[in-house]
Amino acid sequence: MTIDDASRSERQKILVVDDSKQNLELLMDLFCKEYKIVAALNGERALKLARTTPHPDLILLDIVMPDMDGYEVCKRLKEDDSTKDIPVIFVTAVSEIMDETRGFEAGGVDYITKPFHPPMVKARVQMHLALKRKQKLLEEYAYLDALTEIPNRRHFDNVLRKECNRSLRSHQGLSLLIMDIDDFKGYNDGYGHAQGDEVLRRVAQTLSKALRRAGDFLARYGGEEFAAVLPYTDAKLAVETAEDLRREIESLGIMHKSGGGALTISLGVASVPPNKEIFPAELLEAADKALYKAKDGGRNRVESVTL
Ligand code: GH3
Ligand code: MG
Ligand code: MG
Repeated sequence: MTIDDASRSERQKILVVDDSKQNLELLMDLFCKEYKIVAALNGERALKLARTTPHPDLILLDIVMPDMDGYEVCKRLKEDDSTKDIPVIFVTAVSEIMDETRGFEAGGVDYITKPFHPPMVKARVQMHLALKRKQKLLEEYAYLDALTEIPNRRHFDNVLRKECNRSLRSHQGLSLLIMDIDDFKGYNDGYGHAQGDEVLRRVAQTLSKALRRAGDFLARYGGEEFAAVLPYTDAKLAVETAEDLRREIESLGIMHKSGGGALTISLGVASVPPNKEIFPAELLEAADKALYKAKDGGRNRVESVTL
């Protein structure tokens, strides 16, 4: 799927903010056929709607409003991580634009002037929405491994960091699995790199299907290494899960050596009990050590450690 194919698939959402009901209705009429529209009559309500998921893809923001003006709303949107990347177009009467640079300084991307010239308003909105869509897709691709189409290491690092913080806050345990295909160099040497790539895809799909609990997160960690974050998971359940994964891969029966053995993986498991502060690097190091123990112990096995 190309970026342009994907860009046609989902309806985008616009938040329109104006203290005049009449203006809101005009804008809603203009866009309701092609886009999802939400509307706010004041700044407070606008901020609330902007923070609600799914977040709007674009905000049309009136400048002159009682209580909180558009500049202030925009400033607050830009201060909040959940709303700072939503493009804001200021909507205002020509006579009200005192200082055009002020809107850009507040973080706006464009101006639309009242009275509306509908084709112009539409063209501007379409352009900003198309840009937003492309940016979003590029970000998604940046977090995806190109070969296996599962999350990549960058994505994994973010998730692990968040889950380490969350496990402490929510007084819940957390486990991490690191998996490495056994003698994959030998597989590549025997069957060729292209066939090796195919195996990586199959292993990724199999692991991802087998990790079924909500919150389980699998990524390609490196060449032939995968990693999974298992929130709310104690050591016992993590080892059971790792054993399941090990069996799933072995039972794919991917012929490995001319002698007849199937391709296997080794797994290292590290678990943190509830209420223990843990840094991602410590958890990774512990899981890595366990993985090496599994390799040393003869491969196709699970080793675990509790921190
Ligand atoms: P061990 O059991 O100790 O893990 O042995 P191994 O051969 O799997 O480990 P080693 O680290 O020696 O080799 C890893 C191999 O994985 C070598 C490399 O060519 C292969 N590999 C890494 N990334 C890819 C990839 O994207 N595609 C293919 N086909 N092979 C890859
Ligand atoms: Mg390796
Ligand atoms: Mg390996």
